[in-house]
Amino acid sequence: MGASIYPDFPPKTTLEQQDYLLSNIKDWSILNGLAIRPSTSLLSTSTDLSGTLAATAPVTLYPSLFPRACFHEARAIQKAYNELYAAIARDQNWLRQIVQQLIEVDDFIASLWNVHLEVEKEGYVQNLSLGLFRSDYMVHTDPANPDSKPTIKQVEFNTIASSFGGLSTKVSQLHSYLNEIAAYPPTSPPTIAYPSFPANPCIESLSHGFSTAHRAYGPSKSSPSLPLCILFIVTVPESNIFDQLALSTPLQTAYEIPTFRLAFSAILDHTTVSSNKHRILNYSPPHSPEMSYEVSLVYFRAGYSPSHYPSSASWDARLHLERSAAIKCPSILTHLAGSKKIQQELATPNSPHLANFLSRTSSADLIDRIRNTFTAIYPLDDTPEGQHAIRLATSAKDSEGYVLKPQREGGGNNVYGSKIPAFLAGLGDDQQRWRSHILMELIKPPTLRNSILRNGEVQSGEVIGELGVYGVCLWRNGHDEAGGKKNGGDADGEVLENWEAGFLLRTKGSESEEGGVAAGFGAVDSPCLV
Ligand code: ADP
Ligand code: MG
Ligand code: MG
Repeated sequence: MGASIYPDFPPKTTLEQQDYLLSNIKDWSILNGLAIRPSTSLLSTSTDLSGTLAATAPVTLYPSLFPRACFHEARAIQKAYNELYAAIARDQNWLRQIVQQLIEVDDFIASLWNVHLEVEKEGYVQNLSLGLFRSDYMVHTDPANPDSKPTIKQVEFNTIASSFGGLSTKVSQLHSYLNEIAAYPPTSPPTIAYPSFPANPCIESLSHGFSTAHRAYGPSKSSPSLPLCILFIVTVPESNIFDQLALSTPLQTAYEIPTFRLAFSAILDHTTVSSNKHRILNYSPPHSPEMSYEVSLVYFRAGYSPSHYPSSASWDARLHLERSAAIKCPSILTHLAGSKKIQQELATPNSPHLANFLSRTSSADLIDRIRNTFTAIYPLDDTPEGQHAIRLATSAKDSEGYVLKPQREGGGNNVYGSKIPAFLAGLGDDQQRWRSHILMELIKPPTLRNSILRNGEVQSGEVIGELGVYGVCLWRNGHDEAGGKKNGGDADGEVLENWEAGFLLRTKGSESEEGGVAAGFGAVDSPCLV
């Protein structure tokens, strides 16, 4: 990696300055819920018997310098990205074609697709879908032309459980606060000033998205009518619970919408789907079982990983929610639209798909700007591109510049660089199994200096950042409410609400391959625009 582009940022601090900064970060974080539940591995059972402990979330001590034009571009194209993925999720014929290439080689994708097929058989009863997306980027500079302007390249597009919106608003507030109380020493040279902290509206904007979908659900369909509620489907225990609570609390207090957390593993214990044609989803909270709510919106913060489905009952639970009248965030088709395989199809040079999906709603210029965020992504199949990729992936030297990804979410699933050939060899001679992966060119963002406070320890050094931009999108699908199908096409679909919803900067050591905060590699950060 090259030298830091701003070698004098952050400024050198005395021991006393660093102590002052750290104590403020620790106290502000707990005061304001910039926190995680410590994972049990960090605790002896005697220290957390009652589950009352919280720890500060991994954060950077300073905001990270981030190119202003890249930041604005990432936010400016988010609405078009929302349109794109809403259009993909509506086009089940196109999705089917892609998913069919995966189902023989990937049981998890096959099971997700089966949920769709089951619901399609009886007909969908909910025509609305909510997308809470996050498009992730790294800054790219052309290695052949280091003085050229930096651009953004997309790492991936998330359509399920796009997390950290809650903590992201808070880390922006933390860094602004530290600046306000002069916990940051003056910079040298002074031209790199702190005050360029953009406000980060994630919490407000995402919770507004949920409330908008809740309203769009309409009045209770039960007779006699039941109060409506929103369900957050979660894993238990959940170390990132405060991020989720940052979004659910405003729903309860500002919007006055009853909002409950329900473990993925307990869906079938506490919800029912009415047997009439409406298929209303009812929820009875275990703390007051005499109460019954009609669920307007189901928000999945679980269900994206095979480990969330330990038995066939887990799949029954996903189907149970999907066939119900509640709006899903995301629907099963929206979940599938976020597959890395879809990203690869879109990024294939000269592929017509991007323009096909966007030409109705976006200008040619906007479509080009989306295309400019793509980096090389290959399938590992029998096509000429696939054969080229297999040559790259099986060569010790050529694989260096690539990352191999399965169709999975949540971090920790990828294989990097020179480890790729041995990994593929380990899958056996049957190259069919390779097809469940994509091969992606590694983006090499310029390194910066920063310090990360994680598990009570400060680590300083060269870091790289990944910017995520959130999007909220509510759309009507092409099928009609009575449960019928309209030829599976998307012609009848319509986007009702669409906005860009704030951002997330995650920062990790430049030598670390993965950047996931929850997966244990990175920290939440905020951008200081330069
Ligand atoms: P997941 O859905 O599991 O988060 P990602 O595609 O985001 O999968 O990969 C996880 C992490 O791996 C990213 O946060 C990033 O740090 C790293 N990564 C993924 N793709 C690339 C890439 N093309 N170039 C550089 N780093 C990458
Ligand atoms: Mg992801
Ligand atoms: Mg990711």
